[in-house]
Order: sequence, then structure tokens, then C-alpha cells
Amino acid sequence: MDIFLTGGAGYIGSHTCVELLNAGYNVTVYDNLSNSSQESLKRVEKITSKKIRFIRGDIKDEQKLISSLSGMDAVIHFAGLKAVGESVLKPLEYYDNNTAGTITLLKAMQKKEVKKIVFSSSATVYGEPLFLPLTEEHPLRVTNPYGQTKLMIEEILRDLYKSDDSWAISILRYFNPVGAHKSGIIGEDPQGVPNNLMPFISQVAVGKRDELNVFGDDYDTPDGTGVRDYIHVVDLAKAHVKALQILDKPKCEAINIGTGNGYSVLEMVKAFERASGKKIAYKIMPRRDGDIATCYAKAQKAKEMLGWTAQKGIEEMCEDTWRWQINNPDGYKSTNA
Ligand code: NAD
Ligand code: UDP
Repeated sequence: MDIFLTGGAGYIGSHTCVELLNAGYNVTVYDNLSNSSQESLKRVEKITSKKIRFIRGDIKDEQKLISSLSGMDAVIHFAGLKAVGESVLKPLEYYDNNTAGTITLLKAMQKKEVKKIVFSSSATVYGEPLFLPLTEEHPLRVTNPYGQTKLMIEEILRDLYKSDDSWAISILRYFNPVGAHKSGIIGEDPQGVPNNLMPFISQVAVGKRDELNVFGDDYDTPDGTGVRDYIHVVDLAKAHVKALQILDKPKCEAINIGTGNGYSVLEMVKAFERASGKKIAYKIMPRRDGDIATCYAKAQKAKEMLGWTAQKGIEEMCEDTWRWQINNPDGYKSTNA
């Protein structure tokens, strides 16, 4: 089968390429490289000893999509801008790239009769939890433009399926993806100062940053710091392979992809210290705007529908992040991999 990955050169896309190639799929990556480099794909080829077809293109370019989609069986749609803070400052860019871009992609797919798609949504669509763990039935309400784009795309996909029930659509709501491939040669490569906890911790451990700012220690959680459901990126990548396999029949399903376990910021700091043998200096700062206290998944639907459960715990998440970080202190610009 031929799988078309928009945004496939990015963090989650590149790890998914590995799992798809290992499972025997042919992989075409369509990416404008706005937040990635082709080096990630070269390294995926090194890990798997298989070839990737790469097309540099934008999801807003309908003509290019139409010609590129020839012969494809299904799409995994990762392409999108993902920084919450930036989305508040540049909402038009986010709505244009993520929402309008997805509409363009779906139109091109419709024209080419490619009607199978796995979409990267996020636990952010649940907003402040009304109850925990978060089930797929939890009300959807978002608090920032990035989250809005995810919710709008989900609604567009549901409407599309209502209009034409020959579509097969898996909406995967990721919790907090972290970690890297075991080889230590692909991983997360944030540009500039990382927004997310795990890459920030690992840059402190490797000496690129002096200390971690812990955003708030007065939440209603066991140690006062925020609690999240961290999911190893390789487990997440495997969930995509499973999600593709259920697209043999028409459907439109939203599925949580998390472990079901929550860990606090300070628990993650301690786990990373154990994995790296380095002390992580940190200071307590005020809460970050828009953050919630606690968020973790009910992962039952993924188990029932996909036959998938997360296998890797926080020790492995930290060890694999650390291996990637020390081997590649400058991400894909590092030459020693
Ligand atoms: P990433 O930035 O590493 O990958 C996204 C890729 O999309 C990049 O390679 C980028 O160059 C490409 N891209 C962006 N706009 C494009 C466009 N208009 N046309 C073509 N390519 C374009 O991000 P990631 O962490 O791998 O995330 C993948 C998807 O998962 C995104 O949609 C993101 O919103 C979603 N997601 C990520 C997280 C997370 O914490 N990483 C959590 C939940 C959901
Ligand atoms: N966090 C932190 N310092 C940082 C980045 C994040 O204390 O530099 C905290 C954040 O407040 C939240 C958790 O770490 O409680 C996870 O944040 P992240 O940005 O990684 O993911 P989010 O759940 O916000 O999408």
C-alpha cells in the first residue's frame, strides 16, 4: 500500500515513516520543510534501509497535491503549525496554514478519489477537563487559535463524512508526545527556545540552557506542578499504523492516543536526572497562561478499536530523548550521527 504523509519530515511524521516502512508500506512524504529538514528522512532511510519518495510541497497548493496523490491509497495528515503561543500572536497564519490547508488537501483527495485519512488532532480539543480521565465523549472546547484549528478540522472531517459516507477517517487525539527512536539518530528538533517540557529539560541536561522554568507549583496536584500524559513517540507512530489498518471500512472516529497515566513536571525532571545522570537545575515561575492542572487520557477506545496500547514508560522516554540529545546536540545540524 502507498501512504502519503503530509508533514512527514517532522518529529512525529519521521518516526511514523520508520514504523510504516518496517511494516512494508511504501511511503511518500509531502512537506514544505517549514519546520523540518530532509535530513530526518535520510536518517529514516538509514534506520530502515528503505527508500522514501519525497516531494517538497505545500498543503495549500491544490494542483501539486492533485498530481502528487496519484497512486496513493491513504493519507496521514501531520502537516501543520503547532506552537500555541505563536498561534495567539499570528492567528491568521494558523487558520490559513492548518485549517485552509486541510480543506485544500481534502478537496484534492476528493478529486483523486483517495478517501482514507488519519488526522493528527490533539488533547487540546478538550480544554480544561470537566472530568478525568478524558474520554472521547468529553465536551470539546478550546482556548487558543492552535486548538481552534484542530477542532475546526475535526468538525470539517465529521461534516465531510456525513456528506459522503464512503470516507474512512481516523482522528487521533495525541496527548504529550516525547522521546525518540532507540537508534538515537532521529528525534525532536525544536527551532529556537523549546516550548515543550521534555526538549527543554534535555537542553538543560546537555548544557545548552542554564535552568528549567517550572511554570507553577500551586496547582491542585500531588506536588503542585502540572500533570500530563506523556506518550513515547514510537508508541504514537505505531498507533498510526494501526489506525491505517482500520480504514478498510468507512468510518469517522476520534480516538485518544495516550498512556492513561499522568506525571508531574517534577516527576519528569527526576526521571530525566536518573536517565541522564545529570542534575537538572530548575526554578519555580508563575503559571503559564492557558495551562491546565492535569490532563490524562482514558485509552480504552484505542485498545478496543485499534488493538493498541502504549508499551513504553517514562524511563524509556527519558533515556531515548537523552540518547538523541547527546548524539545530536544541534539536532539535525549535528553531523556525527
Ligand atoms: P513538526 O513541526 O515536527 O511537523 C510538522 C511538519 O509539517 C513539519 O515537517 C512542517 O515542515 C510541515 N508543514 C507545516 N505546514 C505545512 C504546509 N503548509 N505544507 C506542507 N508541510 C507543512 O510537528 P510534529 O510534532 O511532528 O506534529 C505533527 C502533527 O501533530 C501536527 O499537526 C501537530 O499539530 C500535531 N500534534 C503534535 C503534538 C506535539 O506535541 N508534538 C501534540 C498534538 C498534536
Ligand atoms: N512546562 C514547564 N516548563 C517548560 C515547559 C512546560 O513547567 O519550560 C510544564 C507546563 O506548564 C505543563 C507541562 O510542563 O504543565 C507540559 O507542557 P508542554 O508545553 O510540554 O505540553 P502541553 O501539555 O502544554 O501541551
